[in-house]
Amino acid sequence: MKPEPITAAPADAAARKAIKPVVCYPVETLPRPDLSAYRALRDSLELVETVIVPPREAETWLVPAGHFCRILCSEGPQVGDLNLFNAHDLKERLYTGKTRALNGTHVGLGDQLFSNFPYLRPIATITHDTLDWYGFDEFGGAVHDVIGTRCDPYTHNLLSHGGQYHHCCHSNLTRALAKKTGMAPREAESHVHDVLNVFMCTGFTRDTEQYFMKASPVRPGDYLEIFAEIDLLGCMSACPGGDCSAEHSSDTAACHPMVVEILRAKGLPEGWAPPPVNGYDGTHGL
Ligand SMILES: [Zn+2]
Repeated sequence: MKPEPITAAPADAAARKAIKPVVCYPVETLPRPDLSAYRALRDSLELVETVIVPPREAETWLVPAGHFCRILCSEGPQVGDLNLFNAHDLKERLYTGKTRALNGTHVGLGDQLFSNFPYLRPIATITHDTLDWYGFDEFGGAVHDVIGTRCDPYTHNLLSHGGQYHHCCHSNLTRALAKKTGMAPREAESHVHDVLNVFMCTGFTRDTEQYFMKASPVRPGDYLEIFAEIDLLGCMSACPGGDCSAEHSSDTAACHPMVVEILRAKGLPEGWAPPPVNGYDGTHGL
């Protein structure tokens, strides 16, 4: 528990706290995707490849720019921890912090996923989400967060006083990336980054503002669909927490495989072009 405050509130404390917030990044000036142009292609999608992500393991796949990718719940409620890279340059990768700042704590239909500095551009657009009905529940929970980082053996070691567990999402992603690239595990690990928690239901407790999870509402047949704005390398772990209703970082939760489909449309969205890397000149005033 956090300690009680030791500083006396100033006389105008109530007035200071009553100031209304403003949204950090008003998105009226953010270029928005023409969602209808993307969705117009969805009737013509042709399955190119299917990838199975085994439970408590991770798998990689490629999505060419202009293709779609679906992440499906196949056999039972299961959370996936997703990393996305520029397929030609692993230094460019999903930046959940700025994606969160621009879209909110959880992403869904019409949101774009952004890459890190100095690239900062949309690398994927969410074109369908069968859980979009969920919204926010009475606890403040919602699905597909860009808040959590990924379960990892280091935090587990701290919280369990020395535990060694090798199938956290962080380790699963590391092994899968090492296998795909031929990198040594330590090098592959350095490319693993904060994830999009596909299907995970999370929020912050109203009383202590702590990150919480609860059983995912996902069911077999549900899927999250993205459009690749650039050539993407995807890497996803089927979390050892299963539906993340109780715990992760152990082998006790029921876990299920997940399915990834790569799909090709009969054309490209009208008016679409791959987004260029960010236009800032990079001189930082020097
Ligand atoms: Zn996990």
